[in-house]
Amino acid sequence: MQTAFMNPKIAEQLRERYGTPLYVYSQEEIVKNVQEVMNFPSPFGLTPRYAMKACSTAAILLLLQERGMWFDASSGFEAERAIMVGIEGCRMSVASQQFPNNIKYLVEQGVHFTACSLNQLKQYGNLFPGANVALRINFGIGSGLHAKTNVGGPAASFGVWIDAIDTAIEIAELYQLRITKLHSHIGSGAESELWLAASRAALSVLDKFPDVNTLNLGGGFKVKRHSNDIPDDLQKIGGDISQLLLEFHEKSGRKIKLEIEPGAYIIASAGNLL
Ligand SMILES: *Cc1c(COP(=O)(O)O)cnc(C)c1O
Repeated sequence: MQTAFMNPKIAEQLRERYGTPLYVYSQEEIVKNVQEVMNFPSPFGLTPRYAMKACSTAAILLLLQERGMWFDASSGFEAERAIMVGIEGCRMSVASQQFPNNIKYLVEQGVHFTACSLNQLKQYGNLFPGANVALRINFGIGSGLHAKTNVGGPAASFGVWIDAIDTAIEIAELYQLRITKLHSHIGSGAESELWLAASRAALSVLDKFPDVNTLNLGGGFKVKRHSNDIPDDLQKIGGDISQLLLEFHEKSGRKIKLEIEPGAYIIASAGNLL
């Protein structure tokens, strides 16, 4: 494919120098995408986390860290691997389908934990009573490029189902955990309007969570993969969400920070396989 950083001449030079097959990444393109992500509107603060599973090549992780990005790991192994190449634990949060068996090590390194099920919340509370924790909730809202990347709907196993919120709160109380962040995950390449729906759903339950100061809107923004794809407009999506956060602040006096978790949005346009 011909892109801004790949054309037949450059391809030929790279082939001669390194041989093929070869993965080629454009630092310039990555940095441009990071800038767009960093400019995501958010009235009370933004923590953009790179969803590492999009591409966890060490050089790319380190470049992103240098540019001020934070990180989202989808497993304990992924988080540990990133620490091994020099990513600071405190810049990472882990949200995993499987309770990480290296969680003690990760917590020692400063990694934040997101409980993705009632069972994970119990296990975490058992190990770290009194700690701060994030809770992934499945609000029943999701879409994606296809069923396999739709991780937010009724068919998805990601997160505590909305009806079980009260049980989650009871478990947290039992272990004196402070739930300081809610996490939703609406899918990869989700329909744009779902960001707003997920934000509304999360804000509507915040009464129950007095310690929550951060909303993590998990999910991937749409990127241009084919010539007729329309990529997400982060300014538009962020602007709409900001409006909701400002209204919520007006009503409740609470300033809710935002986290977003782009993976493909940062890297998909910046990589070529020769
Ligand atoms: C994979 C993932 C993302 C990012 O998805 P992309 O389509 O790669 O941008 C965001 N949040 C979570 C929780 C993920 O697992």
